[in-house]
This record gives sequence, C-alpha cells and structure tokens, in this order.
Amino acid sequence: MFKENNNITIIGAGLTGLAFCNLLKNTDVKINLIDINPKSFYENLNIDRHIVLSNTSRVILEKMGLWQAISIHCNKLKDIHISKKNIFGSTIVKSSDENLESLGYQVPVKELVKIFYQNITNVDNLEIAHNAEVTSVEPGEKVKIAFTHDSRSKNIESCSVIFSTGATDELVDSIFFEKVQKDYKQNAITCEVISDQHNTEVAFERFTNEGILGLIPRKENSWTLIYSTNQKESDYINNLDNLDSISYFQELLGNKCGNIQEIKNIKTYPLKLKYHKSFTKDNICLLGDAAHTLHPIAAQSFNLSLRDCAYLTKLIKSENLEKNSLPQMYKNYHLKRIDEVNRLVKFTDSLASLVHGTSFIKNNLISMSFLFMDMNKNLRVNIIRYLLGVNFSKSLISNSEE
Ligand SMILES: Cc1cc2nc3c(=O)[nH]c(=O)nc-3n(C[C@H](O)[C@H](O)[C@H](O)COP(=O)(O)OP(=O)(O)OC[C@H]3O[C@@H](n4cnc5c(N)ncnc54)[C@H](O)[C@@H]3O)c2cc1C
Repeated sequence: MFKENNNITIIGAGLTGLAFCNLLKNTDVKINLIDINPKSFYENLNIDRHIVLSNTSRVILEKMGLWQAISIHCNKLKDIHISKKNIFGSTIVKSSDENLESLGYQVPVKELVKIFYQNITNVDNLEIAHNAEVTSVEPGEKVKIAFTHDSRSKNIESCSVIFSTGATDELVDSIFFEKVQKDYKQNAITCEVISDQHNTEVAFERFTNEGILGLIPRKENSWTLIYSTNQKESDYINNLDNLDSISYFQELLGNKCGNIQEIKNIKTYPLKLKYHKSFTKDNICLLGDAAHTLHPIAAQSFNLSLRDCAYLTKLIKSENLEKNSLPQMYKNYHLKRIDEVNRLVKFTDSLASLVHGTSFIKNNLISMSFLFMDMNKNLRVNIIRYLLGVNFSKSLISNSEE
C-alpha cells in the first residue's frame, strides 16, 4: 500500500493534514497520510460546524487554486458589532476601516473538508490509508510507526513524521513532553439559529455575565451561534427543550438577529488552551491543533495552522530533501513561527480570561474599551489586523505573492 522511502508520514487527515497535503500536492515530496476515518467519512461529512476563515487564509487558498470552489459556500463578514449585555457602550469593527472587502469568511467545515479531500485523491506523490489508527511512534533516524489498518497490525518506517492529530494527546505527549495547558472550565455551545432576518453581513459578539456569544450570519435567514460559557450555564442550556432554548437565546441576544424561529443542532465542545513550546523535535513536527489548540474567541486556530502549513511548505519546496535536511528545516520552521504562535496564544488567552465574569472592574474596563475603540480608528484597525492575522504574516503574504 505505502511506497517505500517516503519523505513524510502525516498522521491525521483533518483540516490541517488535508490542507498541508494540498500544499504539497504534485511536488517531489513523497507523502503517506494516515487517518482513522473511512473514505466515506470525507464524502458524506455529517457535521454542521462552521468556521471563519481570515483574509490571510483566503490568500493562501487562492494560491492553492481552491478559493473559487470554497467561496461559493462562504458568507462574508463585513462588520462585527461588539457589545456587553446590560452595560453601557458598544463598538463596530468595520472592514472599511482597513479597506477590505470583508473581515472574514464563514464556511461550513464539511464543505472545506470535502474540497480539500477531493483535490488530493489520485495524486502521484501521496498515498492515503483510511480506517487506519496509529498506535505508536518510535523516534529515530527512521521513525517507526505502528498502526492498525482494517483491523490488521502494520509497521512502517518513515524519514519524518508530522502529527496533525488534533487536540488528542497520547501519541504526541510521549514525544513532546513540555506542554502548556489551561482548562478554561468552559464549553463552547454551538448551534444553528433560524430567524426572520435575511442575508446580512454583520456579525455580533456579545459579552454576557456568563460568557461570550458570537452570532455569525450564514446564507438566507440562518446564523451560527457560538456561546463560550461556564459548565453551569452550558448544563442549563443543554437541559432546555426546544421552545425554551428559543426564548433563552432570544433574551440573551435581544433583537440582534430579529425573531428567532428555530434552534438546531446544539453541540457542546469543552474549551482548553494547549500548546507545545517546542513543536518540532529532530525529524518530527506538530501541525494544527496538535501543536496549538486555542480558545475559539478570536476564530484563529485553523487560520494560524494554515499559515504554519504555508510557511513549512515554502521551506520544504526550497530544500533538497534527498540530503536529509528535514531536521534542520523543522528547526528553522520552529524559529520562524514561534513568535506568531506565542503572540496569538497570549492574545486569545488574555481575551478569553478578561471577558468572562461579572466583576465591576471587568465590566467597566470592557465598557471603557468599547468607548475607546469607538473613538480610536487606529485601535480598531489593529484589532482587525489581529483578527485577520495580518499583523503576523504580512511577510508571508508578500513572499507567497512574489
Ligand atoms: C466551536 C469551535 C469553533 C471554531 N471556530 C474556528 C474559526 O472560526 N476559525 C478557525 O480558524 N478555527 C476555529 N476553530 C478551530 C478549528 O476547528 C480547529 O483548529 C481545526 O478543526 C483543527 O483541525 P486539525 O486538523 O488540526 O485537527 P482535527 O480536525 O481534530 O483532525 C485530526 C485528525 O487526526 C485523526 N487522528 C487522530 N488521532 C489519530 C491516530 N492515532 N491515528 C490516525 N488518525 C488520527 C482524526 O481522525 C482527525 O481526522 C473552532 C473550534 C471550535 C471547537
């Protein structure tokens, strides 16, 4: 099944693993991609989750030749209206402040995965093993990988391994010991809201006493609601019947999306921050949520991972892999990317820690921040840049456009 003498074995074909394979498609790099999921998973993905892609991600996806197919499924976010329930002050972050067409693009994860996957089937430099769970990875000049494939045990050796296994820990932790973790003791509750308001391009971020509500327009009269909140509040919401959940969210949201008619697909995701200070070790590298799992408050995890993938691809394409240069390349990759990762970890972590809670000082701080943001265009522009990832990756965009 797998070709001998491959250069890289990628474990995990989620958004990150698939995006990385797309970037390395039709190059000289021989790749094995292993995932637990069967092939049918990618053809009929049964998830309702949406994510927001930044403008930097759009540039990378354009370079990959995939933006046209993806954009059909996207909703533009022109402005974000930010407020806190029951306190004075609000502000609007506008795409026009940065002369941008949009602050971001909301896309269904299932469409993104489908497009990524279809674009790498039948590619010469890539072999995919579905229904295959990696059970151990033994570092060395040749990395030894054990996995079960269609219930049979198999072993392969690879010059290098990339973990894009998401937030799961076991395999990664046995090789990368130094991990920073924070349990926010919060969950993200996500659902689809159907209302009587159609086709808007304004998203809302609303701070409540129990957390942060994000309301992002989809097509027609449908919205993504994402509520990061504490355990008590999420238990309460999960126990509401459908009618009660409509009134509860209507009360929290006010008239932001008009009258709510239906709430669908309520899902709960525990929130934690996890990252590895060092995300490369000799010929092994971590990508995506395996390297850094962030609070979704600024919608940044996958956007950051895509920039990581693009940078690593750039290094790989510029080197001759026959010379066994991967360990040095991974070292350079780490040196180049660590600052942006640290900045984004700090940014999302302080935002998540600041906005939860009811204290008077916090409320006043937030209220004052809104006023200050409203008066200060430079501050708004800087916040937009953080949200877009522009601050971190201007050089990457200009390099990839050259
Ligand atoms: C509520 C919520 C909202 C979000 N919103 C945004 C947003 O707006 N913008 C944004 O940029 N990000 C957002 N994110 C984050 C984004 O969804 C993740 O960063 C992204 O999905 C991670 O992709 P990944 O490929 O790294 O990991 P995963 O999607 O978890 O994929 C990991 C893959 O590895 C496979 N795997 C695991 N272990 C093994 C093994 N032992 N053997 C073989 N295969 C294995 C799994 O089967 C899976 O396919 C959000 C996250 C949440 C929870």
